[in-house]
Amino acid sequence: MFELLATDSQTKARLGRLTTARGIIETPIFMPVGTQGTVKAVSPDELRKMRAQVILGNTYHLFVRPGMEVMEHFGGLHSFMGWDGPILTDSGGFQVFSLAKLRKITEEGVHFQNHLDGSPCFLGPREAMQIQATLGSDIAMVFDECPPYPCEHDYAARSLERTLRWAAQCRQVPMPHKVFGIVQGATFPELRRQSAEALVSIGFDGYAIGGVSVGEPQNEMLAAVESSEPFLPADKPRYAMGLGTPPQMVEMVARGVDMFDVVLPTRLARNGTAFTKNGTINLKNACFTKDRGPIEEGCGCPACRQFTRGYLRHLVKAEEILGLRLISLHNLAFYLGLMSEVRARIANGTFAQFRHEFIANYRDHRE
Ligand SMILES: [Zn+2]
Repeated sequence: MFELLATDSQTKARLGRLTTARGIIETPIFMPVGTQGTVKAVSPDELRKMRAQVILGNTYHLFVRPGMEVMEHFGGLHSFMGWDGPILTDSGGFQVFSLAKLRKITEEGVHFQNHLDGSPCFLGPREAMQIQATLGSDIAMVFDECPPYPCEHDYAARSLERTLRWAAQCRQVPMPHKVFGIVQGATFPELRRQSAEALVSIGFDGYAIGGVSVGEPQNEMLAAVESSEPFLPADKPRYAMGLGTPPQMVEMVARGVDMFDVVLPTRLARNGTAFTKNGTINLKNACFTKDRGPIEEGCGCPACRQFTRGYLRHLVKAEEILGLRLISLHNLAFYLGLMSEVRARIANGTFAQFRHEFIANYRDHRE
């Protein structure tokens, strides 16, 4: 299921291979996010061409719209959206707690009003797993509560107890494919440890570190990973949810994390921000008006092969859809390429050097 192919001698970086029913996932891996059954502005063919190996689907959003009757009618998310590779689905917990209007949290689950039309809905561990089974998820996530940042210790501890009971209930639902547990515990190392140990005793196919990227400073984010990772088994994949910037991903790889998902490549493309090895650039800036170069020299993506920074700047300024699409294609190719390079560097024993150089050269110019 998961093979650990190599471990870096100077860091905790790992090279691995996760086999799913719909294909092999080489780790460390970046997973493009397809919130509404689409990676925004990008077709499945384009994802295949840029060698995406697994994408993320969103239980909450698909549950609210188009709804499970439509998903069942089309035979699941793969055939509905035309992607035959692996799909990881989140459990909907994060969105229920962050997007919906909460009505009541009970032992059985969460009553809420959905964010589209306010109609009453209910999601609990059993429902979340059944929805993911209907979607045809290759990797399903347990239903959890993701506490906000900052969070009082007492609340984090009580929330964690319930989340662990929900994890055990999720594990009892028969699922066709893999199921990952989610380590919670907010910013409290002893809760993170308790969470990791309890999940490992239940036994999952992989372990995610959740409750990160919820507005906490970067040192807290890294600390949450550092206080969870030592208690996770080496022979299962680890997934940091909702992370991160390119340097954060490299730092997480160095701390033993194998899988990542984040909306930054497509979200930032919409305001003209492109990723390069030297950091982000905003193509709206006047300095690119007459720039004949590509976003990044040597990049083989459709945007860099054919178009200049000056033209892309024009498209962004004129709010043309092609501009958003091309920058999305470049940014996704950059994220996928970064993890491909990380894998090559772990394989040839130069990851520590790569980490140092990459972080030293990277400047974040986001406004
Ligand atoms: Zn490019």
